[in-house]
Amino acid sequence: MKKLVVLGAGYGGMRVLHRLLPNQLPSDIEIVLVDRAPYHSLKTEFYALAAGTISDHHVRVTFPEHERLSVKYGEVSKVEMDEKVVHFEDGSTLSFDDLIIGLGCEDKYHDIPGAEEYTYSIQTINKSRKAYQALNDLPANKVVAIVGGGLSGVEIASELRESRPDLTIKLFDRGNIILSSFPERLSKYVQNWFETHGVEVVNGSNITRVEENTLYNHDEPVHCDVIVWTAGIQPNKVVRELDVEKDGQGRVVLTKQHNIPGHENIYVVGDCASLPHAPSAQLAEGQAEQIVQVLLKRWNGEAPPEEFPAIKLKGVLGSLGRKHGFGLVNERPLTGRVARLLKSGILWMYKYHNG
Ligand SMILES: Cc1cc2nc3c(=O)[nH]c(=O)nc-3n(C[C@H](O)[C@H](O)[C@H](O)COP(=O)(O)OP(=O)(O)OC[C@H]3O[C@@H](n4cnc5c(N)ncnc54)[C@H](O)[C@@H]3O)c2cc1C
Repeated sequence: MKKLVVLGAGYGGMRVLHRLLPNQLPSDIEIVLVDRAPYHSLKTEFYALAAGTISDHHVRVTFPEHERLSVKYGEVSKVEMDEKVVHFEDGSTLSFDDLIIGLGCEDKYHDIPGAEEYTYSIQTINKSRKAYQALNDLPANKVVAIVGGGLSGVEIASELRESRPDLTIKLFDRGNIILSSFPERLSKYVQNWFETHGVEVVNGSNITRVEENTLYNHDEPVHCDVIVWTAGIQPNKVVRELDVEKDGQGRVVLTKQHNIPGHENIYVVGDCASLPHAPSAQLAEGQAEQIVQVLLKRWNGEAPPEEFPAIKLKGVLGSLGRKHGFGLVNERPLTGRVARLLKSGILWMYKYHNG
């Protein structure tokens, strides 16, 4: 038996499993799925978990079952590529013949003093639960700061607005207008939504330091009872520590077949992979589809495709609470209830097909 080890049951890892199982897995291959959690976590919904508008159960999906799929739970600490061994924090190890690294990303704090220590995160389910506890335990009329006006910052600020109308919510964003990477029409729509729903957007902000209950914007202290960090991401620490070529964002540079150059048996999927798009769940899934094609060819002793067509992304959708949304679908800006319904529909479909 040859062993394929999949590190991370995220969007990339799960798509690999769902494409290989139940029928495509060659009879001489077994799979070991590795994750710290005993379920696939719907990271795209962590903002709602933290805001307290959905239950924990709502963001969990069970792993598929198959006689040649086993699961190892644990915290991966290191990958030794030449030795073909994965190390875990508890001292255990796992050998592999083929490896897919899909460990996702973590917060990036840009060396801002105190940011990591004094802010809450929504990058893992566990951290989102802690954010939920802190946000929902707040007494009436307290102040919450969200740092970072990208998609996840916008989603948690709006969701929290609906969950806790009593709170003062301040959204600190570097740009002159929120969601600066989106078309202006969408940015204006979102900024207007915040104005009419009483969320204070602090444009042109520059967070220079964080202390307990205090955020320094351009070195000016702002009192906050809870601070949530959504101001940047970087690949998982295990990947950051790999001695391989990385791009400007620290993502691993890969061959066209998505393996690490010089290591035909080690693939990187999702947020840790250097791809010509911003990281997203859709991108991780599209790349996973291509990795499966490569694996099947190589297992069969055939050459994999020399090149793949560009991964097609359908767009991006964000929510503004339960009833409104915004996004780009096939490059067309979409706002309002239709955008929100579409987002809910996509989530429903995802859970239906993966649950
Ligand atoms: C609030 C929010 C909203 C988002 N909204 C969207 C959206 O609308 N659309 C979209 O396309 N993308 C969205 N994204 C981005 C999307 O979630 C990621 O791009 C996607 O999850 C990446 O998939 P992945 O397979 O690379 O890793 P992930 O899905 O992050 O999975 C990584 C897995 O690895 C496990 N893991 C990590 N480290 C270890 C370790 N050391 N040991 C063991 N296990 C480990 C984790 O438990 C997890 O299961 C959003 C992200 C956030 C935070």
